[in-house]
Amino acid sequence: MTFENSLQFAQSLDEKDPLKTYRDKFHIPKINRKDCIYFTGNSLGLQPKSTRQFVEEELLDWEKLGVEGHFHAKKRPWFHYHKFSKEALGKIVGAKPSEVVSMNSLTTNLHLMMVSFYRPSEKKFKIVMEEGAFPSDQYAVESQVKFHGFNPSEAIIEIKPREGEATLKTDDIVNTIEKNADSIALVLFSGVQYYTGQYFDLKSITAAGHKAGAKVGFDLAHAVGNVLVNLNDSGADFAAWCSYKYLNSGPGGVSGIYVNERHANNPDLPRFAGWWGHNEEERFKMEKGFIPMEGADGWQQSNVNVLSSAAHMASLQIFKEAGIDKLRAKSLQLTGFLEYLIKSDLEDSVQILTPKNTEERGCQLSLVVKKDGKKVFDTLTKEGVIADWREPEVIRVAPVPLYNTFEDVFNFYSIMKKVLIE
Ligand SMILES: *Cc1c(COP(=O)(O)O)cnc(C)c1O
Repeated sequence: MTFENSLQFAQSLDEKDPLKTYRDKFHIPKINRKDCIYFTGNSLGLQPKSTRQFVEEELLDWEKLGVEGHFHAKKRPWFHYHKFSKEALGKIVGAKPSEVVSMNSLTTNLHLMMVSFYRPSEKKFKIVMEEGAFPSDQYAVESQVKFHGFNPSEAIIEIKPREGEATLKTDDIVNTIEKNADSIALVLFSGVQYYTGQYFDLKSITAAGHKAGAKVGFDLAHAVGNVLVNLNDSGADFAAWCSYKYLNSGPGGVSGIYVNERHANNPDLPRFAGWWGHNEEERFKMEKGFIPMEGADGWQQSNVNVLSSAAHMASLQIFKEAGIDKLRAKSLQLTGFLEYLIKSDLEDSVQILTPKNTEERGCQLSLVVKKDGKKVFDTLTKEGVIADWREPEVIRVAPVPLYNTFEDVFNFYSIMKKVLIE
C-alpha cells in the first residue's frame, strides 16, 4: 500500500472502505460539539448503538418474568446465556466454541487459569513473562508464586528488551525459555503488549514453553478483536481476555477464557469449582461431588452476569457481521497510514516504540514525543483527541477499524503537527 500525505487522500480511502458503514453503528463522544478523534479503543471501546436494545431486552424479561427468565426468556434464556457468545468468540480467537467461555473478569480468570496450569514443584517452579507486563498481571503472578510458597524474585523470570531497544526479539524469548527449561513451570505472556503494542509470536513462544515441559498461557487483553489470534494454531494451553477494550462490551465487561481441548476432559486438573462448572444435567440436584463440564465450561463458577453479557452479545453481533479478517485488513491500512504520516515529517520529534513489522503489531502505535510529552498530550486532548497517556513517557494511539476513519488519522496527524511546531 502506498500512501499520500493529504486530507483528500484520506477521504478517498474512507470512500473505498468496505467497512465504512460500521462507524455509524457506534456512539462517538463529542468534544466542543464535534465528534472527537477517539483513539482509545484499546482502553475502552465505544458503545455500539445496539447495546441499549440488547440490555433492555434482558431488563424487560426480568421485569415481566422474574425468575422464570432463566428458562423462559424470549430470546436468550439466562440459564444458557454463556452459550450464546461461544461461536463468535471462537471465531475471534481461532478456537472451537467448546474451548471458550465468557465469565468473570480478566484478573480473576488469570488466577483461575493459574490454579489449574501453574503447578510448581520444588525443581520446576518458575514463571516466565515479559518485563513491564500490565500491573494486574504482575500482581496476579507475584501472588500466585507466594501462594505456592516461593519467592517472587527467584521464581519470576522477566524478559527485557536488548540494550537500546524497546521491544522483544522472539529469539530472546525462546532462548530464555530454553536456558531455564529445568526450572520453568509456566510461560505467561501478553498477546499484544499494552505499553509497546508489540504482538508476540504466540506459536514460537508456545513451542518453546512446551519443549521446556512448561504450560503456556496468554493474556489477550490487547489482542482480542484487534489482531488475528489463532489460539488453536498456537497450541497454547490457556488464554484469557477482557471484552471492554477492542471488543466494545462496556466498562468492566465480562471476560473470556480459552482452554485448549487437550485439557477438556480431565477431571483431575485442580480447579476452584462452582456450580456453573458442574455437569449441567445435574446442576439443580444440589448434590455433593463436583463433576466438571467438558471444555472451558467446566471452569465457570457462578451463574452468568446477564446484563454485562447482553452488552457483550451486542458487540459480538457486530464482529460477526464485519468479520475479524476484514477488520484486520482495514486495521493494517489505518495504522500503516498513521505510521506513514508520522514518518513523513514528524520523525524528528516523535519516536514510534511499536514494531515496524506489521505482523508484530495490531492497531496501536506507542509514541514517544521527545520533548514535553505530557504537555503535547494535554494539548491534543484540548484539540479533540482522546488518546492515552502512560507513564513515564508514552502516548498510545489506537485507530480501530470498526469506527475510526482514515480522516481521523489524518486529522490526528495535523493536530499533532500543529502542536509540535507551536
Ligand atoms: C486491561 C488489562 C487488564 C485489566 O484487568 P481487569 O481484571 O479486567 O481489571 C489486565 N491485564 C492486561 C494485560 C490488560 O491489558
